[in-house]
Amino acid sequence: MKLFPVRGGVHPEYRKEQTSECAIVPLPMPEALFLPLQQHIGAPAEPVVSEGDRVRKGQLLARTGGAVSAPTHAPTSGIVKAITEIPAPHPSGLPQPTIVLEPDGKDEWVDLPAPMADPFTADPAAIRQRVAEAGIVGLGGAAFPSAVKLNLGTQLKIETLLINGAECEPYLTCDDRAMREYPDQIVDGARIMAHALGAPRVVIGVEDNKPQALAAMTEAAKAFANVEVVGVPAQYPMGSERHLCQAITGEETPAKKLTADLGVVVHNVGTARAVHHAVRFGRPLISRVVTVSGGAVAAPKNLEVPLGTLVSKLVEFCGGLSRPPRRIVNGGPMMGQPLPSLEVPVVKGTCGILALTEAETNEKPSGPCIRCGTCVTICPCGLVPVEMAAYIRKDHLEAAAKIGLMDCVSCGSCSYICPSHIPLVHYFNYAKGMVNAEDRERRKQDTVKALVEAKAARQEKAAQAKREAAARKAAEKQQNSGAPA
Ligand code: SF4
Ligand code: SF4
Repeated sequence: MKLFPVRGGVHPEYRKEQTSECAIVPLPMPEALFLPLQQHIGAPAEPVVSEGDRVRKGQLLARTGGAVSAPTHAPTSGIVKAITEIPAPHPSGLPQPTIVLEPDGKDEWVDLPAPMADPFTADPAAIRQRVAEAGIVGLGGAAFPSAVKLNLGTQLKIETLLINGAECEPYLTCDDRAMREYPDQIVDGARIMAHALGAPRVVIGVEDNKPQALAAMTEAAKAFANVEVVGVPAQYPMGSERHLCQAITGEETPAKKLTADLGVVVHNVGTARAVHHAVRFGRPLISRVVTVSGGAVAAPKNLEVPLGTLVSKLVEFCGGLSRPPRRIVNGGPMMGQPLPSLEVPVVKGTCGILALTEAETNEKPSGPCIRCGTCVTICPCGLVPVEMAAYIRKDHLEAAAKIGLMDCVSCGSCSYICPSHIPLVHYFNYAKGMVNAEDRERRKQDTVKALVEAKAARQEKAAQAKREAAARKAAEKQQNSGAPA
């Protein structure tokens, strides 16, 4: 297949050797699971259980909280000990509503929905429904509810389902291992998703620095004429769905548009595997593969982790910390977020836990901008990071937004390459948060204004009707009394 060049990008140190040969092993069930209601983008899930309830493995604990949301299920059987607030796996560490489940050691399954014997003759809507009910979200880290993305096929003409096996962040190997160990499950899940989307073609993109994954996926796909496996250049951020889409189709996703507007929907390899489990066996999403790595971890590993397990349990299973880490990261080192502590749970979007040493974080005091232009050359989105940062420093967020702030995919390439160690992506993440908050506030005010205006219009209409009725009555009275008008 012909590939198309992608602008910019960087080549951060690979650092995947620590775990690339570590087969996925299941993490033993911990003594407590902490399941936040907000494990996805969108509205938080709503609990359907209460303290003291006994639940079985796979049982619904919290239902979907809105159109863009995902339910949460019990990773094992046990007792709901509390519905309380605990620190979130987020840099703020702010507490968030969480279901605490105490496993009973029986691992007893609930009655699951019947497996779909032949998903390819099933109604696509039934598959989308099954994916929604299984609580599947994008497992590449974005945690966007997968069924919402599969619904795009009902609104737009989708030609290609693109399966993202690029895994371009240093250290992370969870997708690499899943592709090497479960290629048939991933190809099956991808074909099922393509059917649900109405997409005639499946392309599985794997960075060409993963030869075994490429070979395994190619072998698994060879029986299916509409499934193609392609090696894409190892170039960060190839795992960004816009850039992977560009490498495959040659088309750039316009600002404020989705790849779906180009007829391409992108899902991660882990998501495809979860869809296989949901459709073929009725299993909801209750565990995921997590890479535990970094120079401060004694024995890095790839683990199949029950959702809700505390990060400290993963680190313990990997032999603990061999030295004090400089930073604990949730995700990869480029786009991941620092964790406030090890006492936060693994959630659906947790693809990696990294304990990085001082040398690995390479944090140096930032100096002044020397206007070298390197950040401009490497930005994969064609932005001008140096100018955007200058506006943000002066609090001119609107000016930064005008030159493309909201198109920044937060890949961190500019910060990585900056010779003055200016934390550019931190500026952009902060500014995007502010712009989004202002937008939300503006929308809220617009809604309130529209409601007030509608109420005033209703009142005026009622008053007018009253005036007209009174005038009619007066005219009738006059007519009935026989007096001249
Ligand atoms: S890479 Fe750093 S020093 Fe060079 S122009 Fe960009 S912000 Fe300035
Ligand atoms: S400006 Fe945004 S998209 Fe461009 S390199 Fe920096 S973080 Fe990446």
